[in-house]
Amino acid sequence: MTEPDHPQPTRSEQIAAGLDAVRHRIARACSDAGRDPGEVTLIVVTKTYPVSDVVRLAALGVLDVGENREQEASATASAAAEAGLAPRWHFLGRLQSNKARSVAGFAHLVHSVDRPSLLAPLARGAAERGAPLGCLVQVSLDGDTHRGGTAPEDVPALAAAVAGTAGLHLAGVMAVAPLGADPDRAFARLAALHERLLRDHPDAVVRSAGMSGDLEAAVREGATHLRVGTAVLGSRASLR
Ligand SMILES: *Cc1c(COP(=O)(O)O)cnc(C)c1O
Repeated sequence: MTEPDHPQPTRSEQIAAGLDAVRHRIARACSDAGRDPGEVTLIVVTKTYPVSDVVRLAALGVLDVGENREQEASATASAAAEAGLAPRWHFLGRLQSNKARSVAGFAHLVHSVDRPSLLAPLARGAAERGAPLGCLVQVSLDGDTHRGGTAPEDVPALAAAVAGTAGLHLAGVMAVAPLGADPDRAFARLAALHERLLRDHPDAVVRSAGMSGDLEAAVREGATHLRVGTAVLGSRASLR
């Protein structure tokens, strides 16, 4: 039997190569920005990918994974738990009030808190689980709240409401750069909003910003958490 000249990489090899490339990009961006890479957490966004990829990621040292739909997220989280894994699940997607309680049952951090009506069901889910739930206030940097996020001027009130809800912990802020916007300008805006928030809520240190296409800009603007999907796992079959 002869080996083929160019054997196809296995899925594990593909993911390892994607992860390596992304870790190098983060290291270089941190070095360019004079930041310690230890300040930046990489969340690999596994939406649309099977739990087998979560298993492969865990073997490569990835302990933070993200999902954006409640049904898929809870199924993947249960399957991962059955496989003996306990990664930290980050919930990134638009949250429906009737799904919030379920998300609180498995999420480590909910990045997409954008309206007061989510707080009671999140708190109920956190109480059932018996652990405080970290919440990020998602900001709509262009004020187009149809795509998720609260308007910038509403951030202080929503943050205060999260901080005042038993069982919830205000952990910081999250944003997605608006379509077509310059990511540096967008994330600078998020940084300014976050600095102001930190005066009233000094523990709310998380700044979740940056995806496959704009993680360098996010690192320059002080992101503590990056949410990267395609650059690690490849392009998703169906865009969402
Ligand atoms: C899908 C998604 C990501 C990851 O996007 P990529 O471009 O695949 O890196 C990050 N954040 C949110 C909110 C997402 O829905």
